[in-house]
This record gives sequence, structure tokens and C-alpha cells, in this order.
Amino acid sequence: MAKLPRVLCPVCNDPVAGVPTRRLGMLSVHDHKRTPRALVLCPGSMTHVPAADAIAVQEELPEPAAERAEAPTLF
Ligand SMILES: [Zn+2]
Repeated sequence: MAKLPRVLCPVCNDPVAGVPTRRLGMLSVHDHKRTPRALVLCPGSMTHVPAADAIAVQEELPEPAAERAEAPTLF
């Protein structure tokens, strides 16, 4: 899982993932829909927003395999 910052979509104001772009200090709003079953993407998708406007940074989930370091035994 990638650590992507969350930004507010400039159109629907929903928190969505901000994807790094080649433009320094800017993030691209990840493709998203306004409603889950909609057939079209929100027009705010792919627009660039300043990275300083990120509202949160998603933490990486812990690896489940790292928790049990020893080999699994029957009993
Ligand atoms: Zn949107």
C-alpha cells in the first residue's frame, strides 16, 4: 500500500488521495466518483492542487506476516 496524502477535491470537497505529479509541490486529485454507482468521474479528478493543502497522510498498514516471525506450528 502506498502512502498517499489526502486532499480535498476542489469540486465535490470530498477527501481523496493526492497522487504525486511532475509539478513540484502539487498533487493530482485521484480519479473518483461523486456517488459510488455513478458512471462518470467527478470533474475534479486529475486536477492539480497544492500539496500544502493536504489534510492527512494515510499510514501504511502493518504487514500481517511480520507479526508472526516464527514458523506456524500445529500445537
Ligand atoms: Zn470530486
